[in-house]
Amino acid sequence: MKWSYRIARIAGIDVKIHITFLLLLAYFGVTDWRDGGAFQGILSMAFILLLFLCVLLHEFGHAMAGRHYGIRTPDITLLPIGGVARMQGGLQKPWQEFVIAVSGPAVNVVIAGVLWVVLLLFPDLVDPRHPISSQILPNLMKINLALVMFNMIPAFPMDGGRVLRALLAMKLNYLKATKIAARTGQVLAVGFVIVGLGWDPMLLFIGLFVFTAAREELNDVIFREQIERDRGFRI
Ligand SMILES: [Zn+2]
Repeated sequence: MKWSYRIARIAGIDVKIHITFLLLLAYFGVTDWRDGGAFQGILSMAFILLLFLCVLLHEFGHAMAGRHYGIRTPDITLLPIGGVARMQGGLQKPWQEFVIAVSGPAVNVVIAGVLWVVLLLFPDLVDPRHPISSQILPNLMKINLALVMFNMIPAFPMDGGRVLRALLAMKLNYLKATKIAARTGQVLAVGFVIVGLGWDPMLLFIGLFVFTAAREELNDVIFREQIERDRGFRI
């Protein structure tokens, strides 16, 4: 991806950040600094960094599950709309795709669960006298749960959409399952765009991203099926 820079290499996977992610960080830092002072500005940047650490761990969840099935992940890129793990491998079996798709959100469930237990054991952390922990930890827990719910919306190629395709592919052929999942994804993407136009620019970008990505993935499957078929004819 253009304008992405490698910041680390973890477990053989390049971790990259897209330049727009830094712009997002700067935007929140500057506006909160202006509205609430330096402390608030630094706090909100710290929160975004922690949030994206959770997103990164989510992507590693996918990558590690993929590795288990012999699928390589050369890199993970952090964008303002989330993370993208680029996975290389042939068509997966439906249950493998299912496991890989749920492994990302599962990481966020674990993070939220750990935070919940920590806050339960140390209620002092949410005391307003401790502004750092009381502002960051409960919100981080909530946003991890929100990430799980949002990701499980069956908007292919988001995780929920991959789960949908995997479930469909257990009954139908892969191409047909992808077609249904991609169409569902595009319909939901139009919904994201409409809602995004009115209320949330981030959702607008996600909608556009999902719409085009659904089409690309569908074309990719059609292309691969074509190759398989041609190969079949030759034999
Ligand atoms: Zn995911």
